[in-house]
Amino acid sequence: SGRWIKAMELVTEFEEKCATPIWKLRQVADAMTVEMHAGLASEGGSKLKMLISYVDNLPTGKEKGLFYALDLGGTNFRVLRVQLGGKDSGIVNQQFEEVSIPPSLMTGTSDALFDYIAAELAKFVAQEGMDFQLTPGRQRELGFTFSFPVMQSSIASGTLLRWTKGFSIDDAVGQDVVAELTKAMERQGLDMRVSALVNDTIGTLAGGRYTNNDVVAAVILGTGSNAAYVERAHAIPKWHGLLPKSGEMVINMEWGNFRSAHLPLTEYDHALDADSLNPGEQIYEKLISGMYLGEIVRRVLCRMAEEAAFFGDIVPPKLKVPFILRTPVMSAMHQDTSPELKVVADKLKNILEISNTSLKMRKVIVELCNIVATRGARLSAAGVLGILKKMGRDAVKEGEKQRTVIAMDGGLFEHYEEYRRCLENSLNELLGQEVTETIVVEHSNDGSGIGAALLAASHSQYL
Ligand code: ADP
Ligand code: MG
Repeated sequence: SGRWIKAMELVTEFEEKCATPIWKLRQVADAMTVEMHAGLASEGGSKLKMLISYVDNLPTGKEKGLFYALDLGGTNFRVLRVQLGGKDSGIVNQQFEEVSIPPSLMTGTSDALFDYIAAELAKFVAQEGMDFQLTPGRQRELGFTFSFPVMQSSIASGTLLRWTKGFSIDDAVGQDVVAELTKAMERQGLDMRVSALVNDTIGTLAGGRYTNNDVVAAVILGTGSNAAYVERAHAIPKWHGLLPKSGEMVINMEWGNFRSAHLPLTEYDHALDADSLNPGEQIYEKLISGMYLGEIVRRVLCRMAEEAAFFGDIVPPKLKVPFILRTPVMSAMHQDTSPELKVVADKLKNILEISNTSLKMRKVIVELCNIVATRGARLSAAGVLGILKKMGRDAVKEGEKQRTVIAMDGGLFEHYEEYRRCLENSLNELLGQEVTETIVVEHSNDGSGIGAALLAASHSQYL
């Protein structure tokens, strides 16, 4: 029928605009490398902030003692404690707890957010058992993983540049987030010192390095997306401080804010961006990360309903609700292996209140999920290639047997198998067989929290 033809036209047009042929991925990777150079050259030199983390030493394995970490950066936050045994003993004991953040606190005041976090942390500390041992006479120390753009002024201080991922708390912008947390801990009567302020990428890099010396970069694909890597200190022109003894500095790229004319943006992406809490910002993140993939699919479906009556004469009202189609639902539909696409049918019914779909329609919906996930995964592979190029690890050097490990984490990478497979395949395709053999993408499960605790240990006030 005419409606079906019109709907298929919309799908085809969308698919064409989302295309990521290998030459385009190379353009994106090259643009990423160029922006990395620009961001390192001067403050404000690029959309890529290339923030200096003040982490110039990654964990060695010798760290020792009881340390806490607090991981804030999305819909949940986690508190954890680790007992580090020092050389040869590694992590002797660990415990964690995950707490969801009430949505109202994501757009409230700084005090309300930090009071809530500090209260949960205090509860967790109060439950510390005999199987954890603080060195007598010491204050408890914490690594704070805060995964939003922060301009650091030392390893344990930094001001919030802006919020991302659905957070919007105006009075916190420009504040030192460590001071905010410390004040809230004092209000709770919690005696604890923040020894390291990092984000999830730096934490993941540190956690990965603790167990594997070849880890040189980390990528997070969760609600948002970001990357960090180890840079040579003298390759950072904007750094005017002393050269670190190690000769290296970990750079927090804030790659979510990358943008380039080479990115395949569609009208749906432009509309999503315009309606977001941070229009014009985090354009790359809005193409590749978990917060947005399902929403892109919803927007295309909504258009198909409106302009091609894809779901019949009326547009299903739920389909008009922004963010109602979450990425975990999208991935469940995408990976539905039942012959009748029963998962797709169930999700449509339960979440969008759409019933009576034909198998043919459900196949189209799976295809839409595939288009959006494939574009995201391939673009993130291009970003990884950009980092490898910057580090000079995108080619095999004669006579060298260098191994490069990239630690990856985040709910999207962890749970969306098709996305992850596509990312890894695309990276291999970009690198070619010989180089692929030297590069390992490793899932660093929950490295970010442990990594922050490790960095608190290596930056302890008692060293
Ligand atoms: P955060 O990024 O908020 O710190 P996570 O790393 O746990 O937290 O990532 C959570 C995100 O991962 C969710 O917002 C969602 O987008 C994505 N995600 C979680 N589960 C799945 C899933 N089964 N399939 C696809 N994406 C998922
Ligand atoms: Mg996280």
